[in-house]
Amino acid sequence: MRPPLADTAGAAMRARARMVERLRSQGVRDERVLAAMMQVPRHRFVQEGLAFRAYDDTALPIGYQQTISQPFVVARMIELLHAGRELGRTLEVGAGCGYQAAVLSFVAAEVFAVERIRPLLDQARENLRTLRRPNVRLKHADGSVGLPEAAPFDTIIVAAASPAVPQALKEQLAPGGRLIIPIGAGEQRLVLVERHGGSFRESRLEAVRFVPLLTGTE
Ligand code: SAH
Repeated sequence: MRPPLADTAGAAMRARARMVERLRSQGVRDERVLAAMMQVPRHRFVQEGLAFRAYDDTALPIGYQQTISQPFVVARMIELLHAGRELGRTLEVGAGCGYQAAVLSFVAAEVFAVERIRPLLDQARENLRTLRRPNVRLKHADGSVGLPEAAPFDTIIVAAASPAVPQALKEQLAPGGRLIIPIGAGEQRLVLVERHGGSFRESRLEAVRFVPLLTGTE
């Protein structure tokens, strides 16, 4: 039997609270990020049949051979970018179903999210519509070249793995800007790039697993 709607909403909120507690136990400390993870109903970003797994700490399929990122990785990447500074104007490359863009919208001043697969972008638009986030803009575009018309960005977050840091993304960082991206073909690691004037400092961080960053649109 299907539970009444109110129970379902309550159950989702409890599942989300448990997810946030798990994120804490996994080492996420940034209260702003944890609050944002509590705000976004992740079950609305996955297909109905997978909603019961929406608050598990796992990536899930969203169609077109793509996935919604694992909650821990979303929280961790935003926490790493946020460390000690405001996210400001943020570019997300690889919006997928729009989940991370929604989380970012509670932490960053402005979010520009691009996705190369049109039906996924449409899905993201639909998913975000009900949340009514005033500070998110979505675009169907190849984000491997950044988003020149909206650059520069204080922060850039890439949700797909690349063999090397795309030069265009570095160039679109504002002074003092930071970029986080999974790098590697087989084994991938998060790389944090910080811009200081004309020079860039790169730090290699933890191992991750992302779908590949592709070029062009479809
Ligand atoms: N941010 C998503 C993760 C989606 S998976 C979330 O919240 O869960 C990564 C996405 O990156 C896929 O949808 C894929 O189509 C997209 N992608 C890969 N290469 C891209 C590119 N060059 N430009 C824009 N999107 C890209």
